[in-house]
Amino acid sequence: METIFGGCDFARPRTLHLLDRKITAINAFLTFCETGVIPEYPIEVFLELSNVCNMKCVMCPTFSGINIHRHRTLKVEERGFFETESAQKFLGQLLERSLVVHAFGYGEPTIHPEFIRFMEELRKYEVMIDFITNGMRLDETHCQFLVEQSIYKVSISFSGASAEEYENVYLGGDFDKIVKGIRRLDQIKRTQGRSFPIIEINSIGFEHHMNKLVDFVELMGSCGVNVIHVKPLNVYRTTTELLSHAAVCRPEVEGEVIRKASQRAKELGIIFCAEPFQRTTASTVNDVETQRSLRLVGGALPADQIESRVDIKGMRDYSKSKKALPPLPEGERLPNPTLLDVNEEEAARRIKIETPSRRPKYRCFEPYKTMYIRKDGNVKPCCFSDNLLYYGNVRRHSHKEIWTGPGYGAAQRSMPEGRYPMGSCHHCIEQEMMPSDHVVDRTAREYQRWHQNAFRHQDEIFAPEIFERFQKCRNE
Ligand code: SF4
Repeated sequence: METIFGGCDFARPRTLHLLDRKITAINAFLTFCETGVIPEYPIEVFLELSNVCNMKCVMCPTFSGINIHRHRTLKVEERGFFETESAQKFLGQLLERSLVVHAFGYGEPTIHPEFIRFMEELRKYEVMIDFITNGMRLDETHCQFLVEQSIYKVSISFSGASAEEYENVYLGGDFDKIVKGIRRLDQIKRTQGRSFPIIEINSIGFEHHMNKLVDFVELMGSCGVNVIHVKPLNVYRTTTELLSHAAVCRPEVEGEVIRKASQRAKELGIIFCAEPFQRTTASTVNDVETQRSLRLVGGALPADQIESRVDIKGMRDYSKSKKALPPLPEGERLPNPTLLDVNEEEAARRIKIETPSRRPKYRCFEPYKTMYIRKDGNVKPCCFSDNLLYYGNVRRHSHKEIWTGPGYGAAQRSMPEGRYPMGSCHHCIEQEMMPSDHVVDRTAREYQRWHQNAFRHQDEIFAPEIFERFQKCRNE
């Protein structure tokens, strides 16, 4: 069997060959947790299929229809789709060892002209594939494909319990279409008796959404959704008119709504997680303002630099009145060499290994388990890290060069000492965006469940002691 990514030894039965590799990868991460020896490969890979979008959601840092600088933002990098044929030097090796491929980035993946072929190719590596989508392409063909291929998870960006609320935020979206698309996906799963893809909703803590969260849960229950997340609204400097719409978690108001929504979700058999939103908890009026100002990416701004509030119901019309500035001429795009394209001294200056002024709440495991590959091949350590600093490029550098180079290597060595690559992690640390745990053992369990379901067998892939050892590391 040929694959466009290369790298497989097909002399052995494919599944055994791949499963050996996956078991080795999990063992290597476990050894890292126990002894600090750094694994040779990541377990999770992000592949940015597309960095273009067919919508202009108001809160989006790149495509927002209310950002007058959007043409300039868009021109900062080359836009388009991940090219499968431009020979990724080591992608096959990575995919063999990965358990998860997040097939998305800062764009809409389903509009990739070869979306289905791309997914089929990835699937040959027996990886759990998930992706985030705006849900506008959940048509019959795509839904059938996603179910037949046992794609692991489809995460749909969706907030708002009515067409008016949804379409004034997700500009270019169609409420009826998204609701019908989710129901279609659920229906095909039921007809075929399949558990995958998991249907997950990513909703955002807009004030109006939090006010109707229980209705939203009800609606999602009627669509067959499996998981709902509620995340805080992050506001960018180009769309400050959204800041007053950012709900914060006041225990007696939003906290109470979350309690009721969570209860209703439980009755409907939906997993409900609002933990990221609950991190914005504020008990006093002053706390509310402080928490809200933290939603502003890049830190607080003086009041006169924040645009006045625009009513959500008028947001679509407002976007039409916000004429975008013309893009910068092509020649003005700044060159952005990766850390492997500059000399050692320059790389060290840019990565900025430093002790943060505020100690991060959680230990970060991302540079030991994740590789985020952007549409043009540039690599960064995770989805939270800065988009201006790349550790290498898969079209020019080998896996080893990137994984042990001045980006990953420096981060991997310095993090246990409490020093971080501030050049790429500054915002994440400031806004406490990092995951609270590595969850690699949970990923392994989930992989086993998915593999059994997708390939219809009952065999255990990972030895039970592995999970006990992971737990022991946590307890120590
Ligand atoms: S500190 Fe944040 S940005 Fe940096 S690697 Fe960890 S999760 Fe990613």
